[in-house]
Amino acid sequence: MAENDIFNSGLIQFEQKPGGIMNNLENKVAWITGSGRGIGKAIAQELGCRGARLVIHDIDRESAEKTAASFNEKGYPSIALVSDVSDKAEAIETVDRIKKEFGSLDILVNNAGITRDNLLVRMKEDDWDLVMQINLKGTFLCTQASAKLMMKQRSGRIINIVSVVGVMGNPGQSNYAASKAGMIGFTKSSAKELSARGITVNAVAPGYIETEMTAVLPENVRSAFIEATPLKRGGTPADVAKAVAFFAGPESAFITGQVLHVDGGMVM
Ligand code: NAD
Repeated sequence: MAENDIFNSGLIQFEQKPGGIMNNLENKVAWITGSGRGIGKAIAQELGCRGARLVIHDIDRESAEKTAASFNEKGYPSIALVSDVSDKAEAIETVDRIKKEFGSLDILVNNAGITRDNLLVRMKEDDWDLVMQINLKGTFLCTQASAKLMMKQRSGRIINIVSVVGVMGNPGQSNYAASKAGMIGFTKSSAKELSARGITVNAVAPGYIETEMTAVLPENVRSAFIEATPLKRGGTPADVAKAVAFFAGPESAFITGQVLHVDGGMVM
């Protein structure tokens, strides 16, 4: 049987777009933080091609506006919103604007994140605080603002982008690893709190992914990551985006509080 015959045999029936992508997020509204570039942009693209309406959100105005404009050209309805995830008033205002613009909020992806790497003994307190503020507190604030609307709707999907580093640690990243480990605890606690209102909360933990964030790493660090990856390659933003789309869609309705590793087997 040819590779695709199973899909045409009548045994399995998927509603598919011409590109082979399931059109399962039709009219859902998705807010992806930090989606001006990198993994967030790839997540937005994946949700958009499955029918979602997109909130392209970033602290960087230029990239947010450019990305939203390019998605509108592709036919994915998108708006650009600019704010800092670690500002409580801005998180609340963002949800208000989404409600005004689209009428609902179905999917939140807490993707915005930063690194400020240094060895523990040399780490500046400001670098510790900033990483915690954006990665961990930003996730809390955007989730809190969104959950209030999702609880009224009695449905919602929240997906937190964590990291393998939050599970296995990494020298030079004690602040980043602690923020991502904190996000995993936050994922599980909020999943337990919000489940009664039909909201699922899950996390995706990427391994080494080729983006602008990792482009600054020295070649020896990059090759060490690839060596530690059983599949012997860096991941792509699209690899991460497909896992996020699974948690955003109806196929994962009975899954909450989980961490899915998208890491070429680095953590197993
Ligand atoms: P990136 O630096 O390319 O993109 C991050 C985006 O977030 C940028 O557009 C940036 O402007 C935005 N941002 C930063 N601070 C913000 C703030 N305060 N408010 C709103 N937006 C803000 O990074 P990436 O590689 O695409 O990473 C995305 C996420 O994936 C991060 O949470 C990162 O920790 C996680 N991750 C990345 C890798 C990797 O290998 N690249 C691995 C594991 C986890």
